[in-house]
Amino acid sequence: SETQLPKEETLRLRNEHLGSLTALYFRENPLKIIRAERQYMYDEEGNQYLDCINNVAHVGHCHPAVSEAAYQQMTQLYTNSRYLHDNLSTYVKRITQLFPDPLTVCFLCNSGSEANDLALRLARAHTGGSEVITLFGAYHGHIQSTIDISPYKWKNDMADKPKYVHVAPNPDMYRGPHANSASPGRDYALEVKKIIDTIKLDGKQLSAFIMESLQSCAGQVLPPPGYMTEAFRYVREAGGVCIADEVQVGFGRVGSHYWGFETQDVIPDIVTIGKPMGNGHPIAGVITTKAIADSLGNIVSSYFNTYGGNPVSCAIGHAVLDVIEDEQLKKNAQEVGEYAVKELQKLELKHKIIGDVRGMGLFVGIEIVKNRSTREPGTAVANEIHRRMKNRRIIISVDGAFDNVLKMKPPMCFSRSNVDHVVWSLDEVMSEIATSDVIKPLKPSTGTSHLEEVNVSHLSAATN
Ligand code: PMP
Repeated sequence: SETQLPKEETLRLRNEHLGSLTALYFRENPLKIIRAERQYMYDEEGNQYLDCINNVAHVGHCHPAVSEAAYQQMTQLYTNSRYLHDNLSTYVKRITQLFPDPLTVCFLCNSGSEANDLALRLARAHTGGSEVITLFGAYHGHIQSTIDISPYKWKNDMADKPKYVHVAPNPDMYRGPHANSASPGRDYALEVKKIIDTIKLDGKQLSAFIMESLQSCAGQVLPPPGYMTEAFRYVREAGGVCIADEVQVGFGRVGSHYWGFETQDVIPDIVTIGKPMGNGHPIAGVITTKAIADSLGNIVSSYFNTYGGNPVSCAIGHAVLDVIEDEQLKKNAQEVGEYAVKELQKLELKHKIIGDVRGMGLFVGIEIVKNRSTREPGTAVANEIHRRMKNRRIIISVDGAFDNVLKMKPPMCFSRSNVDHVVWSLDEVMSEIATSDVIKPLKPSTGTSHLEEVNVSHLSAATN
């Protein structure tokens, strides 16, 4: 439009005045997106992009019911939670009713990081413990307390690990120490127990075990059956609490259930939620038991959060839940997600670079490998697929500890024809790559392809 800056100017101003490490997709040729609706985004020239990764625009970008709720409440009242307001009281009732007993109370805040920080504080207040167990590859937020428990972000790997943090292998059924075990759920849970034993030997007390119910940044990792049940049992036996981070995977994304932890048939002590909760408006929360919530009083005099629980955020939260119900988006996630996995598995039969296809609802991962038998990660090829899909105006992402897992976690209105479009395009891109230089060694003596020499930065594609 006439009021738009030229794209080069938008980029120049950003480069000059925004912190240089601020993540940007496709840094070599970034997209300028000026409008979006449903699962489609539009650039400054009006080109349409299919959005396969925005799990914040949960009920669809700029859903009119959500925008209208925000607008109406903005014209009425915007205050903090120190006054009574029906939006707050009815929202906390409604959101906690979506959880099993005894998870009956919540705190509201503004981001997933804040929610996880509060969850860690609640755990400490309740248990008196100091030690926290997290999973390899995990990401739980951008503030100090959550970076501490996010191996995904540690620049110097274990050298950046604070002493009170312990890292258990993530329950990965494709790669990792128990991938080939007959009972991976039990064996991965025993890894948590081993850590608990060392904590005890050191004379320390466990505070919390935190995990995403399905790991996203770690590469769309679905835990094996029984994992959470057994790991939670060990944690509770040691006096710790179990935190399920549902910031990415909550609100029906898994299709069969509202929350990811329900697929493992457990009830956490604390659950954190965010991203999709406000469809882009910053609202997040911590759901827990009355006893744990009350124990916050052991360490602070009160909980106050300037924006958390304001009437506008709560109106938006209600509208998002309305749309999920009215448009049956959970059911859509289940049906379209199952279809996506089935179609991608057909692609797996054709393209050797696909090592694994996995998913639950609209949470899907495709492992790209150099070699199916060694399962060596195909990082450069995954990143090349990501770039080529963008050139076809389809936005997917690449993530995981080895930056080789193609990810899809689209708005929940994603359709079967969107899946067909993605699968057909992936098929073409993978065929192109198979016949190009990309996976043919440039120097046969070393076996290194020219793409391996390109610096594939995590920042370019990661979607945390
Ligand atoms: N937990 C998980 C699992 C996340 O994916 C993220 C964000 N990607 C966060 C926490 C942090 O949320 P926020 O960026 O809203 O602080």
